[in-house]
Amino acid sequence: MGKPYILLTNDDGVDAPGLLALKKAIEPLGEIAILAPDHNWSAAGHPRTMHKPLRVEEVRLADGSIAYASNGAPSDCVALAVLGFFPKRPDLVVSGINLGGNMGYDVTYSGTVAAAIEAAIFGIPAIAVSLDTFSPDADYSAAAEFAARLAEYVLEKGLPPHAFLNVNVPAIPKEQIKGVQVTRLGKRFYEDQLIKRQDPRGKDYYWLGGGPPKDILEEGTDVGAVARGFISVTPLHLDMTDYKLLEALRSWEIFRE
Ligand code: MN
Repeated sequence: MGKPYILLTNDDGVDAPGLLALKKAIEPLGEIAILAPDHNWSAAGHPRTMHKPLRVEEVRLADGSIAYASNGAPSDCVALAVLGFFPKRPDLVVSGINLGGNMGYDVTYSGTVAAAIEAAIFGIPAIAVSLDTFSPDADYSAAAEFAARLAEYVLEKGLPPHAFLNVNVPAIPKEQIKGVQVTRLGKRFYEDQLIKRQDPRGKDYYWLGGGPPKDILEEGTDVGAVARGFISVTPLHLDMTDYKLLEALRSWEIFRE
């Protein structure tokens, strides 16, 4: 095999510093292609743009290198790249580095994770990487360094079809990171409230919002590991079937008539 072809994308937008940090760390591993959204799609989940055209513009990152920006979502960017925008199909897709952790139920909202899911649907190994802070001065170096090490392993060992890795890195100084834990998804609850207001014409409008989430810091979970200062790597799979419930359902009378 020649040099691996690696697609980078994100959901914070093509000019986000996390993407540049990722690119600099991953660059030595192969040939890099970057196609990312032209604006922030955080918490936009997994859309597929179907009712308007997708555009792609050539842009320059802060280091002067060429990247591509699309008006589509992160998942659209991966589909564009895989279906032929670039001359080659990627051997690996890495999404991030996201500003903000994507743990527990976050994975169902996250555009960063959605990009990895899109790659997994195409059968391409993928890694989503998030840094657990919302600070605009975030230091991405530890997350970038780990992402590159993990990417090298994944390129060598591969991943089972339709599985991918979700990585979360604590936002603490590199020397304080205690190590890496392989984890399961934990529990994170947003205490969102419905805020109802009125516009100047007397019509109601709503915000869904709240404070920071409440994490259940169980041992062996992503939220637990990151809270204790470990990098968390969670293997995820597209098969969301609840196998225990599947068995239980079969005993329901309605399915036995
Ligand atoms: Mn984001």
